[in-house]
Amino acid sequence: MNQTPVSLLFEDSRPGRRCTRTTGADRARASAGLPSGELRAAPPALPEIGELDLVRHFTRLSQRNYAISTHFYPLGSCTMKYNPQVNEAIAAAPGWSGLHPLQPEGEVQGALGLMHQLQADLAEATGLPAVTLHPAAGAHGELTALLVLRAWLQERGETARRTILIPDSAHGTNPASCTLAGFKVVTLKSGDDGLTDLDDLRAKLGDDTAGLMITNPNTLGLFEENIDQICALVHQAGGKVYMDGANFNAIVGIARPGDAGVDMMHLNLHKTFSTPHGGGGPGSGPICVTEELRPYLPTPQVVEHQEGYQLETPAKSIGRVRAYHGNFLVLVRAYAYVKRLGREGLRRVAENAVLNANYLRVELRDHWRVPYDGICMHEFVARPTKTMRDAGVHTLDVAKRLIELGFHPPTVYFPLVVNEAIMAEPTETESKETLDSYVAAMIQIAEEARRGDPVLAAAPQNTPVSRVDEARAVKDPRLCFRCG
Ligand SMILES: *Cc1c(COP(=O)(O)O)cnc(C)c1O
Repeated sequence: MNQTPVSLLFEDSRPGRRCTRTTGADRARASAGLPSGELRAAPPALPEIGELDLVRHFTRLSQRNYAISTHFYPLGSCTMKYNPQVNEAIAAAPGWSGLHPLQPEGEVQGALGLMHQLQADLAEATGLPAVTLHPAAGAHGELTALLVLRAWLQERGETARRTILIPDSAHGTNPASCTLAGFKVVTLKSGDDGLTDLDDLRAKLGDDTAGLMITNPNTLGLFEENIDQICALVHQAGGKVYMDGANFNAIVGIARPGDAGVDMMHLNLHKTFSTPHGGGGPGSGPICVTEELRPYLPTPQVVEHQEGYQLETPAKSIGRVRAYHGNFLVLVRAYAYVKRLGREGLRRVAENAVLNANYLRVELRDHWRVPYDGICMHEFVARPTKTMRDAGVHTLDVAKRLIELGFHPPTVYFPLVVNEAIMAEPTETESKETLDSYVAAMIQIAEEARRGDPVLAAAPQNTPVSRVDEARAVKDPRLCFRCG
């Protein structure tokens, strides 16, 4: 065990310092009626500190947070965009935030109505009419959809269909969800163009095929332009197509996966629809499916009747996947976002997300190697050039140097199909000036990398914690405020 005290303020503790003082009478009042065996014999070993020092400590800590509200955050496959503050205010309104999930349906018609309308809006946006808002995250949506698929197969007596095909450019959660849902994963190759190879797909489809999971746009930031053919091939083989829609920011308002033949997909409300992603906060990963799969959706579903909204269990429901009604306040933000932007506004989200990513790609392609250098969607993948690699520079060094220059690094070493990948997603909410400052930093780093400047391997030097052994930092954390 690490001997360092697991504390924040102990180093600043001085005997007798207090933020507030209690009297014997206060303590007697507070402990009145408690069984004597439950009372402390000695005071707890808490830091002793004055109020101003305490305030400064926590304020300093809060300023060390890196956030979209302080800096540019081009983390690929994460859509770290600005989420309008007005949606936070709406979600915090007591009429929403004060609801209890066990209140009877008659008392919460407004909330049920919001869910019903949001389901309709997401159905409209995806071209898939049946929606559940329950899953708590993208990966949870994947699992839920695969359980729906399994129930559908079981109902038809097609239990021999156990294989799910997944392109090698898919998000890592896809194979994990398959395994969890009891399916077997078979990987499909990408072609030289970075898209799913149709010949490989044809060769691997068969009587054991339950379906295909495809991330579109894929994790190279490319739109799978053969998506309609891919769907037709899978359907001919008797399977269903699941589309990972976490990257919906790139196509929202422009393309509807249901129209291309996709049977099921999830959306990350905590990416595309105005809930901050990251930081471990609550998320929401609704799934949208075809009419044929509606009876299998989780319970309960909000249904509209003449006398109002009611909660019902679909006929062949897979059951509950989440307590109560999902993360309701995330749904409120999404609703407010969709209603405020409308159809045209949502389309502009995708147009500007794609424009910003292509701007970065074109500005940087003479300085970095961009392996798939066609028009990209909302993100693109770059990597160090051969000269940089020969100079001993790795993508990790680039990421650390970016931190030093004031930027959150892009996603690195993912997708796996590109060695030393640097995957940047600028999102639609950034100004040209911000993008230009990032381009300038990346060009500066490219120059340093070509000459093998030692500043890269040493970065970051201006942060509270410099480069750590990332494996050990997890297993043997030093949590004290002032180590040494
Ligand atoms: C973010 C993401 C996921 C997983 O979403 P979580 O909410 O983190 O579970 C799945 N697929 C893709 C393509 C993603 O970008």
